Amino acid sequence: MAGRRRPANGGQYFDCDNPCTGEVWARVARGTAADVDEAVAAAREALSTWNGLKPSERGKLMLKMAELIDTHAPALAASEVRDNGKLYAEMLPQMRSAADWFRYYAGLADKLEGAVIPTGRPDMLTFTRLEPLGVVALITPWNSPLLLLAHKLPTALAAGNTVVIKPSEFTSASTLEFAELFAQAGFPHGVVNVVTGFGSEAGAALVAHPDVAKVAFTGSEEGGRRINQGAAADFKHVALELGGKSPNIVFEDAQIDAAVVGAIAGIFAASGQTCIAGSRLLLQRSIHDGFVGQLVDLAGQARIGDPMLPETHVGPIATPPQYAKVLEYIAIAKEEGARCVLGGGPYAGSGTSGGRFVLPTIFTGVDNRMRIAREEVFGPVLAIIPFDSEEEAFQIANDTPFGLAAGVWTSDMARALRASERLQAGTVWINTYRTGGCSTPFGGYKHSGLGREGGVEAIKEWVQTKTVWLCGKPDTNQPFVMRH
Ligand code: NAD
Repeated sequence: MAGRRRPANGGQYFDCDNPCTGEVWARVARGTAADVDEAVAAAREALSTWNGLKPSERGKLMLKMAELIDTHAPALAASEVRDNGKLYAEMLPQMRSAADWFRYYAGLADKLEGAVIPTGRPDMLTFTRLEPLGVVALITPWNSPLLLLAHKLPTALAAGNTVVIKPSEFTSASTLEFAELFAQAGFPHGVVNVVTGFGSEAGAALVAHPDVAKVAFTGSEEGGRRINQGAAADFKHVALELGGKSPNIVFEDAQIDAAVVGAIAGIFAASGQTCIAGSRLLLQRSIHDGFVGQLVDLAGQARIGDPMLPETHVGPIATPPQYAKVLEYIAIAKEEGARCVLGGGPYAGSGTSGGRFVLPTIFTGVDNRMRIAREEVFGPVLAIIPFDSEEEAFQIANDTPFGLAAGVWTSDMARALRASERLQAGTVWINTYRTGGCSTPFGGYKHSGLGREGGVEAIKEWVQTKTVWLCGKPDTNQPFVMRH
Protein backbone atom coordinates (compact mmCIF):
# COMPACT_ATOMS: atom_id res chain seq x y z
CA MET A 1 0.00 0.00 0.00
CA ALA A 2 1.25 3.49 -0.89
CA GLY A 3 4.48 2.00 -2.24
CA ARG A 4 5.23 -0.57 0.42
CA ARG A 5 3.99 -4.02 1.34
CA ARG A 6 2.66 -4.55 4.80
CA PRO A 7 0.56 -7.09 6.72
CA ALA A 8 -3.17 -6.59 7.16
CA ASN A 9 -4.28 -4.72 10.28
CA GLY A 10 -5.95 -7.87 11.56
CA GLY A 11 -2.66 -9.80 11.15
CA GLN A 12 -4.41 -12.65 9.31
CA TYR A 13 -3.44 -14.49 6.14
CA PHE A 14 -5.01 -16.99 3.76
CA ASP A 15 -3.45 -19.56 1.43
CA CYS A 16 -3.54 -19.83 -2.35
CA ASP A 17 -2.92 -23.17 -4.04
CA ASN A 18 -1.60 -24.15 -7.43
CA PRO A 19 -4.48 -25.67 -9.45
CA CYS A 20 -2.06 -27.95 -11.28
CA THR A 21 -0.84 -29.67 -8.11
CA GLY A 22 -3.25 -28.62 -5.36
CA GLU A 23 -0.23 -27.46 -3.30
CA VAL A 24 -0.26 -24.19 -1.36
CA TRP A 25 2.24 -21.82 -2.94
CA ALA A 26 1.35 -18.37 -1.57
CA ARG A 27 0.14 -16.79 1.69
CA VAL A 28 -1.77 -13.57 1.26
CA ALA A 29 -2.72 -10.87 3.78
CA ARG A 30 -6.43 -10.87 4.65
CA GLY A 31 -7.30 -7.20 4.38
CA THR A 32 -10.44 -5.82 6.00
CA ALA A 33 -12.28 -2.49 6.30
CA ALA A 34 -9.43 -0.95 8.35
CA ASP A 35 -6.96 -1.66 5.52
CA VAL A 36 -9.40 -0.31 2.95
CA ASP A 37 -9.71 2.91 4.97
CA GLU A 38 -5.93 3.37 4.92
CA ALA A 39 -5.62 2.60 1.21
CA VAL A 40 -8.41 5.00 0.28
CA ALA A 41 -6.87 7.70 2.49
CA ALA A 42 -3.49 7.20 0.77
CA ALA A 43 -5.14 7.41 -2.65
CA ARG A 44 -7.05 10.51 -1.64
CA GLU A 45 -3.93 12.22 -0.40
CA ALA A 46 -2.11 11.38 -3.65
CA LEU A 47 -4.81 12.97 -5.83
CA SER A 48 -3.34 16.47 -5.70
CA THR A 49 0.20 15.23 -6.41
CA TRP A 50 -0.98 13.11 -9.33
CA ASN A 51 -3.01 15.92 -10.80
CA GLY A 52 -0.25 18.41 -10.07
CA LEU A 53 1.80 16.65 -12.75
CA LYS A 54 1.42 17.76 -16.33
CA PRO A 55 -0.69 15.22 -18.21
CA SER A 56 2.30 14.46 -20.45
CA GLU A 57 4.36 13.68 -17.33
CA ARG A 58 1.69 11.23 -16.21
CA GLY A 59 1.90 9.72 -19.68
CA LYS A 60 5.70 9.37 -19.39
CA LEU A 61 5.38 7.49 -16.10
CA MET A 62 2.86 5.17 -17.71
CA LEU A 63 5.25 4.52 -20.61
CA LYS A 64 7.96 3.66 -18.08
CA MET A 65 5.50 1.29 -16.42
CA ALA A 66 4.82 -0.37 -19.78
CA GLU A 67 8.57 -0.98 -20.18
CA LEU A 68 8.76 -2.54 -16.72
CA ILE A 69 5.77 -4.78 -17.44
CA ASP A 70 7.55 -6.01 -20.57
CA THR A 71 10.76 -6.67 -18.63
CA HIS A 72 8.94 -8.53 -15.87
CA ALA A 73 6.43 -10.26 -18.14
CA PRO A 74 7.89 -13.80 -17.79
CA ALA A 75 7.86 -13.64 -13.97
CA LEU A 76 4.40 -12.07 -13.80
CA ALA A 77 3.02 -14.64 -16.24
CA ALA A 78 4.54 -17.49 -14.20
CA SER A 79 2.85 -16.17 -11.03
CA GLU A 80 -0.49 -16.10 -12.81
CA VAL A 81 -0.02 -19.68 -14.03
CA ARG A 82 0.75 -20.84 -10.48
CA ASP A 83 -2.35 -19.02 -9.25
CA ASN A 84 -4.97 -19.83 -11.90
CA GLY A 85 -3.52 -22.65 -13.98
CA LYS A 86 -3.90 -20.94 -17.34
CA LEU A 87 -1.35 -21.81 -20.00
CA TYR A 88 1.96 -19.94 -19.79
CA ALA A 89 1.75 -19.74 -23.58
CA GLU A 90 -1.36 -17.58 -23.13
CA MET A 91 -0.34 -15.63 -20.04
CA LEU A 92 2.95 -14.34 -21.46
CA PRO A 93 1.22 -12.63 -24.43
CA GLN A 94 -1.38 -11.32 -21.97
CA MET A 95 1.40 -9.52 -20.06
CA ARG A 96 2.66 -8.01 -23.33
CA SER A 97 -0.88 -6.91 -24.02
CA ALA A 98 -1.16 -5.35 -20.54
CA ALA A 99 1.94 -3.27 -21.38
CA ASP A 100 0.25 -2.17 -24.62
CA TRP A 101 -2.78 -0.94 -22.68
CA PHE A 102 -0.44 1.28 -20.64
CA ARG A 103 1.19 2.62 -23.83
CA TYR A 104 -2.17 3.31 -25.46
CA TYR A 105 -3.58 5.31 -22.57
CA ALA A 106 -0.22 6.99 -21.85
CA GLY A 107 -0.68 8.55 -25.28
CA LEU A 108 -4.15 9.76 -24.37
CA ALA A 109 -3.17 11.33 -21.04
CA ASP A 110 -2.46 14.74 -22.63
CA LYS A 111 -5.29 14.56 -25.18
CA LEU A 112 -8.27 14.76 -22.88
CA GLU A 113 -9.94 17.96 -23.95
CA GLY A 114 -13.03 19.84 -22.93
CA ALA A 115 -14.85 21.92 -25.51
CA VAL A 116 -15.88 25.51 -26.12
CA ILE A 117 -19.63 25.52 -26.71
CA PRO A 118 -21.44 28.18 -28.75
CA THR A 119 -24.43 29.46 -26.76
CA GLY A 120 -25.48 32.49 -28.81
CA ARG A 121 -24.20 34.84 -26.08
CA PRO A 122 -21.33 36.93 -27.46
CA ASP A 123 -20.56 38.19 -23.93
CA MET A 124 -20.18 34.64 -22.60
CA LEU A 125 -17.47 32.00 -22.93
CA THR A 126 -18.99 28.60 -22.24
CA PHE A 127 -16.69 25.63 -21.98
CA THR A 128 -16.33 22.21 -20.38
CA ARG A 129 -13.61 20.93 -18.11
CA LEU A 130 -13.03 17.18 -17.86
CA GLU A 131 -12.09 16.44 -14.27
CA PRO A 132 -10.96 13.17 -12.70
CA LEU A 133 -13.56 11.34 -10.62
CA GLY A 134 -11.18 11.03 -7.66
CA VAL A 135 -10.34 7.78 -5.88
CA VAL A 136 -11.55 4.80 -7.89
CA ALA A 137 -11.84 1.14 -6.87
CA LEU A 138 -10.83 -1.63 -9.27
CA ILE A 139 -12.08 -5.10 -8.36
CA THR A 140 -10.77 -7.99 -10.47
CA PRO A 141 -11.46 -11.73 -10.92
CA TRP A 142 -9.14 -14.73 -10.98
CA ASN A 143 -9.22 -15.70 -14.62
CA SER A 144 -6.84 -13.09 -16.12
CA PRO A 145 -5.90 -10.89 -13.15
CA LEU A 146 -3.40 -8.50 -14.72
CA LEU A 147 -4.82 -8.20 -18.21
CA LEU A 148 -8.27 -7.43 -16.82
CA LEU A 149 -6.70 -4.95 -14.41
CA ALA A 150 -4.94 -3.36 -17.39
CA HIS A 151 -8.33 -2.87 -19.06
CA LYS A 152 -9.12 -0.35 -16.30
CA LEU A 153 -6.01 0.91 -14.53
CA PRO A 154 -4.18 2.86 -17.27
CA THR A 155 -7.42 4.50 -18.37
CA ALA A 156 -8.18 5.56 -14.80
CA LEU A 157 -4.64 6.90 -14.29
CA ALA A 158 -4.47 8.75 -17.60
CA ALA A 159 -7.66 10.57 -16.62
CA GLY A 160 -6.04 11.71 -13.35
CA ASN A 161 -7.65 9.35 -10.85
CA THR A 162 -5.85 7.50 -8.07
CA VAL A 163 -6.78 3.88 -7.38
CA VAL A 164 -7.30 1.12 -4.87
CA ILE A 165 -7.21 -2.38 -6.35
CA LYS A 166 -8.83 -5.45 -4.78
CA PRO A 167 -7.67 -8.57 -6.64
CA SER A 168 -9.42 -11.93 -6.40
CA GLU A 169 -8.67 -13.85 -3.21
CA PHE A 170 -7.65 -16.77 -5.44
CA THR A 171 -5.06 -14.88 -7.47
CA SER A 172 -3.52 -11.97 -5.57
CA ALA A 173 0.19 -12.68 -6.10
CA SER A 174 0.69 -11.24 -9.58
CA THR A 175 -1.17 -8.03 -8.66
CA LEU A 176 1.11 -7.50 -5.65
CA GLU A 177 4.23 -8.09 -7.76
CA PHE A 178 2.84 -5.78 -10.44
CA ALA A 179 1.99 -3.02 -7.93
CA GLU A 180 5.61 -2.89 -6.78
CA LEU A 181 6.67 -1.86 -10.27
CA PHE A 182 4.87 1.48 -9.89
CA ALA A 183 7.42 2.64 -7.32
CA GLN A 184 10.24 1.57 -9.66
CA ALA A 185 8.62 3.48 -12.51
CA GLY A 186 8.65 6.62 -10.33
CA PHE A 187 4.92 6.97 -9.59
CA PRO A 188 4.22 9.13 -6.52
CA HIS A 189 3.30 7.13 -3.42
CA GLY A 190 -0.38 6.48 -2.98
CA VAL A 191 -1.40 6.75 -6.63
CA VAL A 192 -1.78 2.96 -6.90
CA ASN A 193 -2.74 0.88 -3.85
CA VAL A 194 -3.71 -2.77 -3.42
CA VAL A 195 -5.73 -4.34 -0.64
CA THR A 196 -5.88 -8.14 -0.77
CA GLY A 197 -8.68 -10.07 0.88
CA PHE A 198 -12.12 -11.56 0.41
CA GLY A 199 -14.93 -10.03 -1.59
CA SER A 200 -17.33 -9.94 1.35
CA GLU A 201 -14.73 -8.18 3.56
CA ALA A 202 -12.20 -5.99 1.74
CA GLY A 203 -14.27 -5.85 -1.48
CA ALA A 204 -17.52 -4.86 0.20
CA ALA A 205 -15.74 -2.26 2.37
CA LEU A 206 -14.26 -0.68 -0.73
CA VAL A 207 -17.62 -0.52 -2.49
CA ALA A 208 -19.19 1.07 0.59
CA HIS A 209 -16.39 3.57 1.23
CA PRO A 210 -17.72 7.15 1.03
CA ASP A 211 -14.49 8.50 -0.53
CA VAL A 212 -14.58 6.08 -3.47
CA ALA A 213 -16.08 7.78 -6.53
CA LYS A 214 -16.30 4.83 -8.91
CA VAL A 215 -16.21 1.05 -8.71
CA ALA A 216 -15.01 -0.78 -11.81
CA PHE A 217 -15.63 -4.49 -11.47
CA THR A 218 -14.92 -7.55 -13.57
CA GLY A 219 -16.46 -10.75 -12.30
CA SER A 220 -19.59 -12.82 -12.10
CA GLU A 221 -23.13 -11.67 -12.77
CA GLU A 222 -23.99 -12.28 -9.13
CA GLY A 223 -20.98 -10.29 -7.91
CA GLY A 224 -21.84 -7.50 -10.33
CA ARG A 225 -25.36 -7.28 -8.97
CA ARG A 226 -24.06 -6.98 -5.39
CA ILE A 227 -21.59 -4.29 -6.41
CA ASN A 228 -24.19 -2.36 -8.37
CA GLN A 229 -26.56 -2.42 -5.39
CA GLY A 230 -23.82 -1.45 -2.92
CA ALA A 231 -22.56 1.40 -5.10
CA ALA A 232 -26.08 2.72 -5.63
CA ALA A 233 -26.38 3.61 -1.92
CA ASP A 234 -24.38 6.79 -2.47
CA PHE A 235 -24.64 7.07 -6.27
CA LYS A 236 -21.12 5.92 -7.12
CA HIS A 237 -20.23 5.49 -10.75
CA VAL A 238 -20.00 1.83 -11.73
CA ALA A 239 -18.52 -0.14 -14.60
CA LEU A 240 -19.38 -3.83 -14.75
CA GLU A 241 -17.74 -6.47 -16.95
CA LEU A 242 -19.68 -9.64 -16.23
CA GLY A 243 -20.32 -13.12 -17.55
CA GLY A 244 -21.50 -14.53 -20.85
CA LYS A 245 -23.08 -17.45 -22.68
CA SER A 246 -21.80 -16.46 -26.06
CA PRO A 247 -23.14 -18.08 -29.24
CA ASN A 248 -20.70 -19.20 -31.90
CA ILE A 249 -22.83 -19.65 -35.03
CA VAL A 250 -21.69 -21.76 -37.98
CA PHE A 251 -23.65 -21.51 -41.23
CA GLU A 252 -23.51 -24.17 -43.93
CA ASP A 253 -21.61 -21.80 -46.24
CA ALA A 254 -18.73 -21.37 -43.76
CA GLN A 255 -15.19 -22.57 -44.31
CA ILE A 256 -15.68 -25.62 -42.14
CA ASP A 257 -12.08 -26.40 -41.18
CA ALA A 258 -11.53 -22.85 -39.95
CA ALA A 259 -14.85 -22.89 -38.09
CA VAL A 260 -13.95 -26.14 -36.31
CA VAL A 261 -10.71 -24.59 -35.06
CA GLY A 262 -12.62 -21.40 -34.12
CA ALA A 263 -15.19 -23.38 -32.16
CA ILE A 264 -12.48 -25.27 -30.27
CA ALA A 265 -10.44 -22.14 -29.51
CA GLY A 266 -13.68 -20.41 -28.51
CA ILE A 267 -14.50 -22.87 -25.75
CA PHE A 268 -11.41 -24.85 -24.77
CA ALA A 269 -8.86 -22.02 -24.60
CA ALA A 270 -8.13 -21.37 -20.93
CA SER A 271 -10.23 -24.48 -20.19
CA GLY A 272 -13.32 -22.42 -20.95
CA GLN A 273 -12.57 -20.01 -18.10
CA THR A 274 -13.04 -16.84 -20.11
CA CYS A 275 -15.99 -14.49 -20.08
CA ILE A 276 -16.09 -14.56 -23.89
CA ALA A 277 -16.07 -18.38 -24.17
CA GLY A 278 -18.14 -19.51 -27.15
CA SER A 279 -20.01 -21.92 -24.93
CA ARG A 280 -23.06 -22.32 -27.19
CA LEU A 281 -22.18 -23.66 -30.64
CA LEU A 282 -25.09 -23.12 -33.02
CA LEU A 283 -24.73 -25.43 -36.04
CA GLN A 284 -26.87 -25.33 -39.18
CA ARG A 285 -28.56 -28.72 -39.34
CA SER A 286 -27.26 -29.56 -42.84
CA ILE A 287 -23.64 -29.58 -41.59
CA HIS A 288 -24.32 -30.68 -38.00
CA ASP A 289 -23.20 -34.31 -38.02
CA GLY A 290 -20.06 -33.84 -40.10
CA PHE A 291 -19.05 -30.79 -38.05
CA VAL A 292 -19.54 -32.60 -34.75
CA GLY A 293 -17.42 -35.50 -36.05
CA GLN A 294 -14.53 -33.17 -36.92
CA LEU A 295 -14.89 -31.28 -33.67
CA VAL A 296 -14.83 -34.37 -31.48
CA ASP A 297 -11.88 -35.75 -33.43
CA LEU A 298 -9.79 -32.59 -33.00
CA ALA A 299 -10.81 -31.74 -29.43
CA GLY A 300 -10.19 -35.36 -28.45
CA GLN A 301 -6.53 -34.89 -29.35
CA ALA A 302 -6.04 -32.01 -26.88
CA ARG A 303 -3.09 -32.59 -24.54
CA ILE A 304 -4.16 -31.99 -20.96
CA GLY A 305 -1.62 -31.23 -18.25
CA ASP A 306 0.96 -28.85 -16.81
CA PRO A 307 0.12 -25.32 -17.99
CA MET A 308 3.80 -24.30 -17.88
CA LEU A 309 4.67 -26.76 -20.66
CA PRO A 310 4.51 -25.43 -24.22
CA GLU A 311 2.97 -28.66 -25.54
CA THR A 312 -0.08 -28.47 -23.21
CA HIS A 313 -3.40 -27.42 -24.78
CA VAL A 314 -5.74 -27.65 -21.80
CA GLY A 315 -4.77 -26.80 -18.22
CA PRO A 316 -6.56 -27.20 -14.89
CA ILE A 317 -9.59 -25.45 -13.40
CA ALA A 318 -8.46 -22.51 -11.31
CA THR A 319 -10.29 -22.81 -8.01
CA PRO A 320 -11.86 -25.58 -5.91
CA PRO A 321 -15.39 -24.05 -6.07
CA GLN A 322 -15.07 -23.60 -9.82
CA TYR A 323 -13.96 -27.22 -10.25
CA ALA A 324 -17.02 -28.42 -8.31
CA LYS A 325 -19.26 -26.09 -10.35
CA VAL A 326 -18.00 -27.37 -13.71
CA LEU A 327 -18.53 -31.00 -12.70
CA GLU A 328 -21.98 -30.13 -11.39
CA TYR A 329 -22.98 -28.56 -14.72
CA ILE A 330 -21.77 -31.66 -16.58
CA ALA A 331 -24.06 -33.73 -14.35
CA ILE A 332 -26.93 -31.26 -14.90
CA ALA A 333 -26.52 -31.45 -18.69
CA LYS A 334 -26.66 -35.24 -18.56
CA GLU A 335 -29.79 -35.13 -16.37
CA GLU A 336 -31.38 -32.65 -18.78
CA GLY A 337 -30.99 -35.20 -21.58
CA ALA A 338 -28.11 -33.65 -23.53
CA ARG A 339 -25.87 -36.25 -25.20
CA CYS A 340 -22.23 -36.26 -24.09
CA VAL A 341 -20.10 -36.97 -27.18
CA LEU A 342 -16.71 -36.09 -25.67
CA GLY A 343 -15.26 -36.00 -22.16
CA GLY A 344 -17.86 -35.59 -19.45
CA GLY A 345 -15.84 -35.75 -16.23
CA PRO A 346 -12.56 -35.21 -14.40
CA TYR A 347 -9.23 -36.01 -16.02
CA ALA A 348 -6.57 -37.91 -14.10
CA GLY A 349 -3.77 -38.60 -16.57
CA SER A 350 -0.07 -38.76 -15.84
CA GLY A 351 1.47 -35.72 -14.17
CA THR A 352 -1.86 -34.35 -12.99
CA SER A 353 -2.14 -35.89 -9.53
CA GLY A 354 -3.51 -33.45 -6.97
CA GLY A 355 -4.57 -31.09 -9.77
CA ARG A 356 -8.10 -30.04 -10.79
CA PHE A 357 -8.47 -31.18 -14.39
CA VAL A 358 -11.68 -31.60 -16.39
CA LEU A 359 -11.84 -33.30 -19.79
CA PRO A 360 -12.83 -31.13 -22.76
CA THR A 361 -16.54 -31.91 -22.86
CA ILE A 362 -19.03 -31.64 -25.72
CA PHE A 363 -22.81 -32.04 -25.51
CA THR A 364 -25.06 -32.40 -28.55
CA GLY A 365 -28.86 -32.37 -28.64
CA VAL A 366 -28.98 -29.28 -26.45
CA ASP A 367 -32.13 -27.21 -26.37
CA ASN A 368 -31.66 -23.51 -25.68
CA ARG A 369 -34.05 -23.77 -22.72
CA MET A 370 -31.78 -26.21 -20.85
CA ARG A 371 -29.67 -24.83 -18.00
CA ILE A 372 -26.52 -25.95 -19.82
CA ALA A 373 -27.49 -23.48 -22.56
CA ARG A 374 -28.59 -20.63 -20.30
CA GLU A 375 -26.16 -20.49 -17.37
CA GLU A 376 -22.49 -19.65 -17.45
CA VAL A 377 -20.40 -22.76 -16.69
CA PHE A 378 -16.99 -21.10 -17.04
CA GLY A 379 -15.32 -24.40 -17.89
CA PRO A 380 -14.42 -26.63 -20.87
CA VAL A 381 -18.01 -27.56 -21.62
CA LEU A 382 -19.56 -26.94 -25.04
CA ALA A 383 -23.32 -27.09 -25.71
CA ILE A 384 -24.23 -27.71 -29.36
CA ILE A 385 -27.61 -26.47 -30.57
CA PRO A 386 -28.86 -27.16 -34.12
CA PHE A 387 -30.79 -24.60 -36.22
CA ASP A 388 -32.39 -24.53 -39.66
CA SER A 389 -32.67 -20.93 -40.86
CA GLU A 390 -30.68 -17.73 -40.39
CA GLU A 391 -33.63 -16.20 -38.59
CA GLU A 392 -33.77 -19.10 -36.15
CA ALA A 393 -30.01 -18.82 -35.53
CA PHE A 394 -30.34 -15.13 -34.58
CA GLN A 395 -33.36 -15.85 -32.41
CA ILE A 396 -31.58 -18.63 -30.45
CA ALA A 397 -28.38 -16.57 -30.22
CA ASN A 398 -30.24 -13.63 -28.65
CA ASP A 399 -32.40 -15.77 -26.38
CA THR A 400 -30.10 -15.44 -23.37
CA PRO A 401 -29.83 -13.07 -20.44
CA PHE A 402 -26.24 -12.33 -21.49
CA GLY A 403 -24.80 -10.30 -24.37
CA LEU A 404 -21.04 -10.22 -24.16
CA ALA A 405 -19.86 -11.66 -27.50
CA ALA A 406 -20.94 -13.68 -30.52
CA GLY A 407 -19.15 -15.48 -33.35
CA VAL A 408 -20.40 -15.99 -36.90
CA TRP A 409 -18.85 -18.27 -39.50
CA THR A 410 -20.08 -17.66 -43.05
CA SER A 411 -18.73 -16.87 -46.51
CA ASP A 412 -21.76 -14.67 -47.29
CA MET A 413 -20.77 -11.09 -46.38
CA ALA A 414 -24.34 -9.80 -46.65
CA ARG A 415 -25.32 -12.35 -44.01
CA ALA A 416 -22.28 -11.35 -41.95
CA LEU A 417 -23.45 -7.73 -41.95
CA ARG A 418 -27.01 -8.75 -41.07
CA ALA A 419 -25.61 -10.76 -38.16
CA SER A 420 -23.51 -7.83 -36.95
CA GLU A 421 -26.71 -5.80 -36.72
CA ARG A 422 -29.03 -8.45 -35.32
CA LEU A 423 -26.85 -10.02 -32.62
CA GLN A 424 -27.29 -8.45 -29.19
CA ALA A 425 -23.68 -8.55 -28.03
CA GLY A 426 -20.94 -6.06 -27.26
CA THR A 427 -18.55 -7.81 -29.64
CA VAL A 428 -19.37 -9.71 -32.85
CA TRP A 429 -16.60 -11.73 -34.49
CA ILE A 430 -17.04 -12.83 -38.09
CA ASN A 431 -14.88 -15.71 -39.28
CA THR A 432 -12.70 -15.35 -36.20
CA TYR A 433 -13.13 -15.65 -32.43
CA ARG A 434 -11.51 -14.28 -29.26
CA THR A 435 -9.56 -11.41 -30.80
CA GLY A 436 -9.27 -8.02 -29.13
CA GLY A 437 -6.94 -5.27 -27.97
CA CYS A 438 -6.58 -1.93 -26.27
CA SER A 439 -7.82 0.18 -29.21
CA THR A 440 -11.26 -1.46 -29.53
CA PRO A 441 -14.21 -0.98 -27.17
CA PHE A 442 -15.21 -4.05 -25.16
CA GLY A 443 -18.19 -4.63 -22.89
CA GLY A 444 -21.54 -6.30 -22.52
CA TYR A 445 -25.18 -5.96 -23.46
CA LYS A 446 -27.89 -7.06 -21.01
CA HIS A 447 -26.61 -8.98 -17.95
CA SER A 448 -23.06 -8.99 -19.33
CA GLY A 449 -22.38 -5.56 -17.96
CA LEU A 450 -22.36 -1.78 -18.07
CA GLY A 451 -19.80 0.48 -19.71
CA ARG A 452 -16.97 -0.09 -22.16
CA GLU A 453 -13.25 -0.63 -21.78
CA GLY A 454 -10.70 0.02 -24.53
CA GLY A 455 -10.52 2.59 -27.29
CA VAL A 456 -10.41 6.36 -27.14
CA GLU A 457 -13.95 6.86 -25.85
CA ALA A 458 -13.41 4.72 -22.72
CA ILE A 459 -11.33 7.43 -21.07
CA LYS A 460 -14.50 9.57 -20.82
CA GLU A 461 -15.87 7.00 -18.38
CA TRP A 462 -13.18 8.04 -15.90
CA VAL A 463 -13.86 11.79 -15.82
CA GLN A 464 -16.76 14.02 -14.98
CA THR A 465 -17.70 16.97 -17.11
CA LYS A 466 -18.06 20.39 -15.61
CA THR A 467 -19.65 23.18 -17.66
CA VAL A 468 -18.36 26.69 -17.04
CA TRP A 469 -20.30 29.83 -18.03
CA LEU A 470 -17.86 32.75 -17.95
CA CYS A 471 -19.32 36.19 -18.49
CA GLY A 472 -16.87 38.84 -19.70
CA LYS A 473 -18.56 41.50 -17.56
CA PRO A 474 -21.17 41.11 -14.79
CA ASP A 475 -24.28 39.68 -16.38
CA THR A 476 -27.24 42.08 -16.49
CA ASN A 477 -29.28 39.71 -18.57
CA GLN A 478 -30.47 37.45 -15.75
CA PRO A 479 -34.02 36.14 -16.15
CA PHE A 480 -34.92 37.42 -12.69
CA VAL A 481 -32.97 40.22 -11.03
CA MET A 482 -33.76 42.16 -7.86
CA ARG A 483 -32.53 45.68 -8.48
CA HIS A 484 -31.47 48.10 -5.72
P1 NAD B 1 -16.56 -13.04 -8.61
O1 NAD B 1 -17.73 -12.19 -8.90
O2 NAD B 1 -16.72 -14.19 -7.70
O3 NAD B 1 -15.36 -12.16 -7.98
C1 NAD B 1 -14.77 -11.09 -8.68
C2 NAD B 1 -14.14 -10.14 -7.68
O4 NAD B 1 -15.16 -9.53 -6.91
C3 NAD B 1 -13.19 -10.80 -6.68
O5 NAD B 1 -12.11 -9.93 -6.44
C4 NAD B 1 -14.06 -10.92 -5.45
O6 NAD B 1 -13.32 -10.98 -4.25
C5 NAD B 1 -14.87 -9.66 -5.53
N1 NAD B 1 -16.14 -9.67 -4.81
C6 NAD B 1 -16.99 -10.70 -4.65
N2 NAD B 1 -18.07 -10.31 -3.91
C7 NAD B 1 -17.88 -9.00 -3.64
C8 NAD B 1 -18.63 -8.02 -2.92
N3 NAD B 1 -19.80 -8.31 -2.31
N4 NAD B 1 -18.16 -6.77 -2.86
C9 NAD B 1 -17.00 -6.44 -3.45
N5 NAD B 1 -16.22 -7.32 -4.12
C10 NAD B 1 -16.67 -8.59 -4.21
O7 NAD B 1 -15.99 -13.52 -10.03
P2 NAD B 1 -14.84 -14.59 -10.33
O8 NAD B 1 -15.35 -15.96 -10.04
O9 NAD B 1 -13.57 -14.13 -9.68
O10 NAD B 1 -14.64 -14.40 -11.91
C11 NAD B 1 -15.29 -15.15 -12.88
C12 NAD B 1 -16.40 -14.33 -13.49
O11 NAD B 1 -15.86 -13.15 -14.08
C13 NAD B 1 -17.14 -15.04 -14.61
O12 NAD B 1 -18.52 -14.85 -14.46
C14 NAD B 1 -16.65 -14.33 -15.86
O13 NAD B 1 -17.53 -14.38 -16.95
C15 NAD B 1 -16.45 -12.94 -15.36
N6 NAD B 1 -15.51 -12.24 -16.23
C16 NAD B 1 -15.98 -11.21 -17.02
C17 NAD B 1 -15.12 -10.55 -17.88
C18 NAD B 1 -15.59 -9.43 -18.77
O14 NAD B 1 -14.74 -8.65 -19.21
N7 NAD B 1 -16.87 -9.29 -19.03
C19 NAD B 1 -13.78 -10.94 -17.95
C20 NAD B 1 -13.35 -11.99 -17.14
C21 NAD B 1 -14.21 -12.61 -16.27
